[in-house]
Amino acid sequence: MCGIVGYIGRKEAKPIILNGLSRLEYRGYDSAGIATIESGKLTTIKSLGRVSDLEKVPGMESLKGTLGIGHTRWATHGKPSRENSHPHMDNSESFAVVHNGIIENYADLKDFLKDNGYTFLSQTDTEVIPNLIHFHYSVSTETGNKKFIKAVTDTCNMLKGSYALEILANDYPDNMIVVRKDSPLVIGKGQDEKYISSDIPAILSFTKDFYLLNDNEFAFMSRENIEFFDKNLRPISKTAQSITWNAGAAEKEGFEDFMLKEIHEQSKSIRETIGSRITENGSSSIPDIDVSKDYLKSVNKIFIIACGTAMHAGYVGKTIFESLCEIPVEVEAASEFRYRNPIINEKTLCLFISQSGETADTIAALKLAKSCGARTIAISNVIGSSISREADYTVYTHAGPEIAVASTKAYTAQIALLAIIAIHFAEILELNEEKVNELKKDILELPNQIDEVLKTKEQIKQFAQRVYKETDMFFIGRGVDYAVALEGSLKLKEISYIHSEAYPSGELKHGPIALIENNVTVISVLTNRMLVEKSVSNIQEVSTRGAKTFIVTNQELNHSFDTVINIPKTNVLISPILSVIPLQLLAYYISKEKGLDVDKPRNLAKSVTVE
Ligand code: GLU
Repeated sequence: MCGIVGYIGRKEAKPIILNGLSRLEYRGYDSAGIATIESGKLTTIKSLGRVSDLEKVPGMESLKGTLGIGHTRWATHGKPSRENSHPHMDNSESFAVVHNGIIENYADLKDFLKDNGYTFLSQTDTEVIPNLIHFHYSVSTETGNKKFIKAVTDTCNMLKGSYALEILANDYPDNMIVVRKDSPLVIGKGQDEKYISSDIPAILSFTKDFYLLNDNEFAFMSRENIEFFDKNLRPISKTAQSITWNAGAAEKEGFEDFMLKEIHEQSKSIRETIGSRITENGSSSIPDIDVSKDYLKSVNKIFIIACGTAMHAGYVGKTIFESLCEIPVEVEAASEFRYRNPIINEKTLCLFISQSGETADTIAALKLAKSCGARTIAISNVIGSSISREADYTVYTHAGPEIAVASTKAYTAQIALLAIIAIHFAEILELNEEKVNELKKDILELPNQIDEVLKTKEQIKQFAQRVYKETDMFFIGRGVDYAVALEGSLKLKEISYIHSEAYPSGELKHGPIALIENNVTVISVLTNRMLVEKSVSNIQEVSTRGAKTFIVTNQELNHSFDTVINIPKTNVLISPILSVIPLQLLAYYISKEKGLDVDKPRNLAKSVTVE
């Protein structure tokens, strides 16, 4: 996820682009870059780091063009570096492109282009785009503007994945093409000028009138005109809308808080994390983990090591790996693991999960595991993070930057990725084919099902209004539902400061039930058909003692309970990706009712770089 900005008009483009980029830096700040056209010639300038670093690059002062494109990067493919920075150009330097999103089939497209003589300077997925445009342009029989437009639509028709693109061409020094699919892009309208951006607030100080592009819509712009068309070059008519909100709503895209925005982004982050790693019919592919069948057969133990929410994702991962790969898995807090001389050797595979990739305890545990001869895999959301430099293999969740301190979309993306890795290993080991194929189908349905779960938010908000003044709550579940209970309880503590505990449902009667009295809130997760009756009995045990019950389930319950949140049915192994969402929303709405700062809870930091 990155920010893109563009300008075409009569003013100098550079200051407008730099101003917009600095407002978009919340979307990523691995590197920044700009391209303008002046005297019929494309010039690009890029820099590792932030927009303020780009401003200092020699040559910036002489960029005077009145049309240009800019980018601030959140790396998804290829580490943060100058050569991986955008804008990217084709080999002949005739086209410059900035891109927000992920091209899932970039490896195939790269092969296609290499077969046609193209070479690559970066490790990004993006670099295929300018080269494909050049490819189509150079074989085109079209003339005039249509030649440029058709080269772009032909290119986009080959792309799989998500993209918002701004494209400049040497042959068209007074034009720009933009397009979007599953990544945001808006066009602000001025007098003989257009402002382009990933979000409205970044350019709201320049204009209040916007064209909102839908998926697969293209715009061909000159200073005076703008034409919209679809991927088959059919014209689309569009009118500009006036925006009344203020720039203060900034990067939150209309949501009140980053946490709420990130909860709503989960269908996208899961879709991008799946990417082309699994498909319904083919075998899974994780090029980042290069392990043989012989090696996996030699592994007699897997450790999943992490902290906080990432460790809770690990608990779900344990069930998935054991079920598909038939290897025993132990999950442990990094801060414990590193101080207890764990039994590890070359037959141990250790997985480390850290959203930021900078968690000090997790990195220290990784170093320990390596020194004992184990192979190590890191799961992180940040390309090039410290953990990725230490591990033997790194696989990335593509959740985009997570800004709220309480993790939501990174957690669900971590579970999705653990499931994909387990599938990949089971396929290499040739185990549980039927189960694996079913799970793949179920994973691919998750993004739409997440949107369904989000529709329960009003019901959740009402429950939050009833319980926000309480001081203690309990979460219960069995199996993976218990793992979700742990995460729900952590979310509540983190942002609402309400004391809560999570227990395996069957453990209640061994002690904690003594705490249940009239009006105490007990939150249950129930997604395993095999355990419905037992879990329902546990819920009845607390409700007969006067507890208020809030149940998240995808099962039919034959009893009436206080508040039941129904979510779609899915494979129990990945059900946490859906069942955690009502718990995230519950914690969120309780925190809001209490008037707390949801995004920046007291005493907590986003990335815990101290031990
Ligand atoms: N996939 C592209 C890259 O890694 C764009 C990432 C972004 O949206 O920032 O360079």
